[in-house]
Amino acid sequence: EEIHIKSSSHDYIVTMGEGIRSTLKAFLKKEYSSIFIVTDDTVGKLYLKDVLGGLEEEKNVFYTEVHAGEQSKDFETFHRLHTTALENGLDRNSLVVALGGGVVGDLAGFVAATFMRGIDYVQVPTTILAHDSSVGGKVAINHAFGKNLIGSFYPPVAVIYDTETLATLPGKEIRSGYAELIKEALITDEASVTSVLDADLNKLSSNQLRMHIKAGIATKASIVQQDERESGVRKFLNLGHTLGHAIESNYGYGKLTHGEAVAIGTLFALHVSEDIFNNELPFNDVYNWLQANRYPLDSSILVETDALINKMKADKKTVDTNIQMVLLQNIGKPINRTISDEELKNYLL
Ligand code: NAD
Ligand code: ZN
Repeated sequence: EEIHIKSSSHDYIVTMGEGIRSTLKAFLKKEYSSIFIVTDDTVGKLYLKDVLGGLEEEKNVFYTEVHAGEQSKDFETFHRLHTTALENGLDRNSLVVALGGGVVGDLAGFVAATFMRGIDYVQVPTTILAHDSSVGGKVAINHAFGKNLIGSFYPPVAVIYDTETLATLPGKEIRSGYAELIKEALITDEASVTSVLDADLNKLSSNQLRMHIKAGIATKASIVQQDERESGVRKFLNLGHTLGHAIESNYGYGKLTHGEAVAIGTLFALHVSEDIFNNELPFNDVYNWLQANRYPLDSSILVETDALINKMKADKKTVDTNIQMVLLQNIGKPINRTISDEELKNYLL
């Protein structure tokens, strides 16, 4: 299955399939002088061998495994990858392969974007969440001041999504990815929301999972094609993320996954939307679904109101000091709205 994506620099194809990690070569449009695979130590143990097997005939193939987890999106790891690339003779006609979840995708993508002013890379996503991060060309590392503050818009030359790899994902990573799928469904249409909320994450069929991922990618693709650099509609993909990012950073990365934090942020956005627009949104349906699927929704997550508001202000998506939030006028009708500290405080309480 293929989804075609247009970007200002080039078009690329997202291919979804079972077992395609072993045949990467088939998706490369040219010969590369070297191939540098970046993965993490969890994904490496599971899938690196298969990927290497499919690249046996290629010249100068080498790899690095970074530690699994958000902490690898840092300057030190970024620098180390560049050093490894240089030591192994990576040149302008080389390829970077990002094999893993969003962390590896963002990190390896930013290495590719900056190595000798930019070389080709392919995304080989292995998490559900990475359906989102592997499409659209945002790559970044973190700074002590905040997440994803140092980065670029740099689309891959291909996305090779082997959905077979999703079978080894732990429960919390399935939950994390599904939070983004709900977000995408909410900014698409009612049918998408119903379909996602029909899923029981404990007995997800691979067909159902593929269908949801494909729909999520289609929504993301259509938005980034309209607004690659996030000056308009792309902001709508930040539904749930204003509070989500604040929770993530207030709690410390690793305690809650990105998606678990976004799920709470999405509930909050639904609540604020219902209040402001006086509309009927599926707050209760989403809430019940999240609870049934064992998302952490503990109210203690929201007690540090002032800290959360400060974190929201520090988020780079904020213009001036006013906090911007994506709200829903209706399902499929997102809107960007500035919201005062006072309002926020009231809603958080
Ligand atoms: P991740 O890459 O850390 O993966 C989550 C965990 O799952 C890791 O421990 C990883 O080792 C493990 N894992 C990965 N694939 C596995 C598999 N197939 N089987 C078993 N374990 C596996 O996190 P993520 O949730 O994929 O991505 C989160 C990151 O993505 C964040 O840094 C976020 O900022 C970024 N992101 C970027 C964009 C973008 O547009 N660039 C969009 C959304 C999120
Ligand atoms: Zn997200």
